[in-house]
Amino acid sequence: MTNNQLTTNRRFVLKRRPTGTPLPEDFALLSSPVPEPPRGGLIVRNHFASLDPAQRGWMDDTPSYMPPIPLGESVRATTVGRVHSSANADYKPGDWVVGLNALEDYSVVAPGGFTSKVDVSAVPSPSYFLSAMGAVGLTAYFALLDVGRPVAGETVLVSGAAGAVGSIAGQIARIKGCRTIGIAGGPQKCGRLLKDYGYDVAIDYRGRSVSELSADIAQAAPNGVNLIFENVGGDVLDAGLLNLAPKARVILCGLISEYNSDCGKLGARNLWQVIVKRATLHGFLILDYVARFSEGGAEIARWIAAGQLRVDEHIEQGLENAYPAFMKLFSGGNHGKLVLQIA
Ligand code: NDP
Repeated sequence: MTNNQLTTNRRFVLKRRPTGTPLPEDFALLSSPVPEPPRGGLIVRNHFASLDPAQRGWMDDTPSYMPPIPLGESVRATTVGRVHSSANADYKPGDWVVGLNALEDYSVVAPGGFTSKVDVSAVPSPSYFLSAMGAVGLTAYFALLDVGRPVAGETVLVSGAAGAVGSIAGQIARIKGCRTIGIAGGPQKCGRLLKDYGYDVAIDYRGRSVSELSADIAQAAPNGVNLIFENVGGDVLDAGLLNLAPKARVILCGLISEYNSDCGKLGARNLWQVIVKRATLHGFLILDYVARFSEGGAEIARWIAAGQLRVDEHIEQGLENAYPAFMKLFSGGNHGKLVLQIA
């Protein structure tokens, strides 16, 4: 029997809601029999699972755009895998599918669930449907182009710039003729901003106060930044807000610096600058763009094929390593889109 066909289903389960930074004891790896497909549904053998900052929010019992992960259930995750068994005439065993499933060997997909077939022959690895060709690439694409509407010649500031979303957002801004400034943690990631993702300027935020970081941005953009693509929040956002150009747009994509806060949310302290500069703050959620995924995916695929867009994936191995792998998102230990290979 191969690792692709098991008799038991290992599940990475949420045992307890984390307070602040998640602990190993908040989770358990449990086993149960491989389920049967429900009427009209599927069983999917998960091959790759996306590890996303959003999963941290889904672990909290607070109002959000999705219900919290119930205690005792597998941790929700987007996965790409193959149909193991099917009670749905539109899917046959072996079909590759992507969908909102969970960190487990096998997922039950109810009829009408958020699952679609994917053509893995068109990409270097099926995991691309979790990175550039998945929600991450599409977040960068739609948040930047549809919400931020950059104009050639404008200056775009991206935080979390070496990460999955940030690296693609910065590259798309450059493709669109913008000057790009990336903020990331540490000299190695800053080197990659310049060398791998074509940023014009790289700024290391680690160990910098808000005023020092603001001075770094001011030096890189003496006339201010026209667009902020915000993935981090907190001090990084505060420093960006001190450098807005008139009529700047701020896209709030993520606030990862707050996700493990155990003393409430930090908020933005320089909002006054939004008034001074007549700027606009936009909240962005990728779920609003599901109907347009094929449009964004097609353009991203063209840029990849033309060698204009670099895609980096950081693949960790094994469901048993789900916890340490997930925590890399918060230590900055991931270099590219963080993916857990399950099969
Ligand atoms: P990344 O690949 O960017 O990984 C997370 C990175 O965040 C880390 O590598 C680290 O980079 C940085 N980071 C972690 N903790 C902190 C901190 N306390 N302060 C500053 N930086 C920190 O993840 P994604 O690209 O998947 O996600 C990036 C952001 O986009 C997240 O905020 C996420 O929630 C958001 N997002 C939003 C979506 C939406 O629809 N709104 C959809 C998808 C993602 P470094 O080493 O540089 O510190």
